[in-house]
Amino acid sequence: MSAVQVRLQSLVLSNDILCQVRVRMRAAMDAGLGQQTHDAASIKMLPSFVRSTPDGTERGEYLALDLGGTNFRVLRVKIADESGQQKVFMENEIYVIPKEAMAGTAEQLFDLIAKCLSDFLEKRNIKSQKLPLAFTFSFPCKQTKLDESTLVTWTKGFKTSGVEGRDIVQLLREAIKRRGDFDIDVVAVVNDTVGTMMTCGYDDQRCEVGLIVGTGTNVCYMEELSNVELVEGDEGRMCVNTEWGAFGDDGALDDVLTEFDRELDHNSLNPGKQLYEKMISGMYLGEIVRLVLVKLTEEGLLFGGKVSSALGTKGSFETRFVSAMEKENVGLEKAEKILKDLGLQVSVQDCEAACLICCLVSTRSAHLCAAGLAAVVTRIRQNQAKDRLQTTVGVDGSVYKLHPQFSQRLQDALKLLVPECEVHFILSEDGSGKGAAMVTAVAYRLAQQRRQ
Ligand code: BGC
Ligand code: MG
Repeated sequence: MSAVQVRLQSLVLSNDILCQVRVRMRAAMDAGLGQQTHDAASIKMLPSFVRSTPDGTERGEYLALDLGGTNFRVLRVKIADESGQQKVFMENEIYVIPKEAMAGTAEQLFDLIAKCLSDFLEKRNIKSQKLPLAFTFSFPCKQTKLDESTLVTWTKGFKTSGVEGRDIVQLLREAIKRRGDFDIDVVAVVNDTVGTMMTCGYDDQRCEVGLIVGTGTNVCYMEELSNVELVEGDEGRMCVNTEWGAFGDDGALDDVLTEFDRELDHNSLNPGKQLYEKMISGMYLGEIVRLVLVKLTEEGLLFGGKVSSALGTKGSFETRFVSAMEKENVGLEKAEKILKDLGLQVSVQDCEAACLICCLVSTRSAHLCAAGLAAVVTRIRQNQAKDRLQTTVGVDGSVYKLHPQFSQRLQDALKLLVPECEVHFILSEDGSGKGAAMVTAVAYRLAQQRRQ
């Protein structure tokens, strides 16, 4: 083992520890679902009011907003019937949410959203149509209905004031009213995990889990309504947005957190929050690597002991560098370029060490994610009282899609943790947009069935 490897043993999680993480995740899920334990639970297990995955008969034309991932987007989604086959047509426009708006007031943020929407409708000449709109809002929200959704807390770098504790549907409706140049029917607020599950759920009816490993991380899954104690009724199922990113906020991961995680958390916009997310998702992976590089350089293990000012700057080591440096065959070459661009004097050993660090950090992310997922699929297996479970997970997110080994490592670790579950992964094609429309379409279908 190299000196760097020895130094970084705390980033390697044994199978035994992963099993423990899985058990603790399970306990946290149970606590989030229970009426008595919900308030104190770290992960909130939020009811989504989505009661069914698509059955293929959904139709219609919808608008969707997507806030909370890499970009803010407005979409038009058409679910049509082509000779008995469901087909989805989509068009979208990407808008930039400037950093100021992420840290400004609620009014500023929602005025901007309404302006983008207006621009989108204007360009397509459909301002007078009053289409149903679904809002993919990828933050923890307490929903009381499909179209009533209170933000619990911001995550992922948003800090806009006056939104936490408010119903975001109301904020959007008010902003649209302030403009007065178009009218829209806001029918659903959807978490991106739910959108992802719904999108994949119409290609594969067995899909009952939605996973995001992107800027943030989260999972949703179909739970028996009788176990969702916060919602009345015992019949059927409801999708639960776990908000697992907050796992560990009650101390459950204290023995897993390293000095690097603690430092990252300390310097973050939301200290003490989203600790599991901070070890897994794309907003943080590069920064963890940077903190490791700085520390090891200061200890004289790298770059001749000299930290460059770029390397010393928060955010300078992007998560896409991690992916680049782990690419087969070319990783080392990429490492040299990236490190030199950061103003560092590098030797071959430095490049190798930096690649190793990326590998340790991203592997830990995949393994932690697998431990969480193991808890989720085990819960589903037990709900269905089966010895063996076959199930499908719909996945989206930049880390899962762009990192060269992440998905394989996640799947390998999951197999080891839950050999009794056969888990298929399908990539969602734009779950945040298509899925939001799908949620709306399914809600319309269910309402129609109720009327019949
Ligand atoms: C949010 C979740 C979201 C996830 C992935 C987290 O920070 O709390 O609601 O699903 O990021 O976008
Ligand atoms: Mg997204």
